[in-house]
Amino acid sequence: MQKKENLLVQFQEVLKEQKYSHEEKSMIEAAYQLAEKHHEGQKRASGEEFIIHPLSVAIYLAAMNVDKEMIIAGLLHDLVEDTDIELTDLEDQFGKPIAQLVDGVTKITKLKSASKTEQKAETIRKMLFSMIQDMRVIIVKLADKVHNMSTLQYLPREKQKKVAKETLEIYAPLAGKLGLYFIKNELENLALRGLKPDLYKTIDLYMKKKEKKRRGITTLITHGIESKLENSDVSFSIKSRIKHKYSIYRKMKKFNKNIDLIFDLYGVRIITDTVENCYVILGIVHRLWHPIHGRFKDYIASPKSNGYRSIHTTVIIEKRKVIEIQIRTREMDEMNEYGIAAHWYYKSGDHPGHKDIKWLETLKQVQEQKLSPEEFYQHIRDDILKEEIYVFTPKNDIYELPKGATPLDFAYQIHTEVGNRCRGAKANGNIIPLHAPLQNGMVVEIITAKDPCPKREWISIAKTTSAKRKIRHFFRTHEENLLTQEAGKKTPVEPIPKKERKQKPKKIVKKVMNREKIAIEVDGERNLLFSFANCCNPVPPDPIVGFVSRGRGIIIHRTDCKNLNSFEDLETRSIAVNWTTTSKNNIFSFFLRTSDRANTYIKINNVIKRHGGTIIEFDLDKSTEHLRKIDGHFSIELPANRNIDIIIKDIRKIPTVLFIDMR
Ligand code: MN
Repeated sequence: MQKKENLLVQFQEVLKEQKYSHEEKSMIEAAYQLAEKHHEGQKRASGEEFIIHPLSVAIYLAAMNVDKEMIIAGLLHDLVEDTDIELTDLEDQFGKPIAQLVDGVTKITKLKSASKTEQKAETIRKMLFSMIQDMRVIIVKLADKVHNMSTLQYLPREKQKKVAKETLEIYAPLAGKLGLYFIKNELENLALRGLKPDLYKTIDLYMKKKEKKRRGITTLITHGIESKLENSDVSFSIKSRIKHKYSIYRKMKKFNKNIDLIFDLYGVRIITDTVENCYVILGIVHRLWHPIHGRFKDYIASPKSNGYRSIHTTVIIEKRKVIEIQIRTREMDEMNEYGIAAHWYYKSGDHPGHKDIKWLETLKQVQEQKLSPEEFYQHIRDDILKEEIYVFTPKNDIYELPKGATPLDFAYQIHTEVGNRCRGAKANGNIIPLHAPLQNGMVVEIITAKDPCPKREWISIAKTTSAKRKIRHFFRTHEENLLTQEAGKKTPVEPIPKKERKQKPKKIVKKVMNREKIAIEVDGERNLLFSFANCCNPVPPDPIVGFVSRGRGIIIHRTDCKNLNSFEDLETRSIAVNWTTTSKNNIFSFFLRTSDRANTYIKINNVIKRHGGTIIEFDLDKSTEHLRKIDGHFSIELPANRNIDIIIKDIRKIPTVLFIDMR
């Protein structure tokens, strides 16, 4: 009971904040009254009064500052489906546009198709279809979804999983497609909570523990930039955020790592007033901190197809702290957050960014032509879906490809190595030729060979430019290969500026032990030929990148290796690699401060051995030995059944250990 009253107060506040007119507010009020009256006595699975649901949806919509019709549709959206109210009743009281909105939302809910795959394709088709009639349907539907997902825990376990999966496969990607990133992130987080509640809790607790650290980083970045901007009139504000839990989970899964070993947990957003200043600040950021190659993206110069604009770069701050920094103007920030909804709000049309939403324009044109439903469908199929089809992996990951794309395009989109090793393809379980165009909603499996096997004719078979480029690149490097060149060997080393040279008297003793136990993983593939670059000598848990050499397999460099910048073709030849082990054991890293070098090492080694582990690598900073304050990093390998926490506890008991922290 209490909850409804609270929500109503909140609703009033949001409406006031967003400055809806008196007339609009009374219409919204009337819609609420109608919904409350007819949902009376109904309960949600959570046991709450039903009205809590449409009310929450309406608040969510109002906070996005959408038009009154969408808010009203949010309040009314379950009436026709769940009560004795007919669509015509709504039409009589609120007019046709609102009745149609409600109808659209209801229709998406009622989907019945033969197979799962078919159903997914059908859902996507249906959503695109209703988007053309009125895109606001999707926004209302997504708001509905967010609230349903937030009360997912009241459904039976199996149902929770099913709904969460569907959310990840369809609704979240669609929100992304519309540029509604805050909805996308929220849906993904809630879906993760539904699918893996324990893991979700672990991530949540871990991030809470790191809250202080995050604030420290924000301050550090703010001060850094401020110091460089003194005496200039460039103004900026900074927001830091924890990356959303689902993206952290995805990294943990992809890299098969504990959360302690995931590097970029935080993101920082710098907001300024003009595009010019975005680049000024970018320059400062790159001067202050070392950027990680391959992570810089300029979506201001080339916006995403949903209109998203921002600069992204990832830098290394202090010791091994990897931070993603986004730089954008205030206006872009608003557009990016609210995506299509912001577009709706600025529908005067002269708002900057409006024209960037290209596919939206196409949709609008089709909408204005007043076509029959069949003609609409043809348009979606031929004009809208021509641009993109959605294809699923057997694991139900969704990929977006241009229409006409072949299995080769799909394979190369998954990963260059998957493309190079592509030997055949199955669509919905049947073998198809590599030149066959893929269809929307297909489940496509790529059959790979052990070794790369591209054929020259692939260049003409592939439809996407990125796949063509990758195939060409394969042949180019393959030929050069015969000329016995080697990468990473004779590349010039950038001279270290004098200033930096002075700052580097630190001698770090680096010992690498049992290196044969360390392996490298590319997209889950471990059996790859690789070697470590001699220039930067990476050891776990350094951030690393792979460079595909001519004839020496993958050469592993530290991401901040100075030599990387001097390699030609770095963009196409670098691949994401991860630390892993050759055994089923886990690698853990920790940081510690000790007062005694030798003694500490022996004692730590004893503790680790006692627990069945091995020290893989350690470094202790010798230069501070005389201060009796030595910092060090250890990487250790533990059998899967051993608990790292117990070991850390035991190490903490060593008297010479002043401080220890999992990194
Ligand atoms: Mn609903």
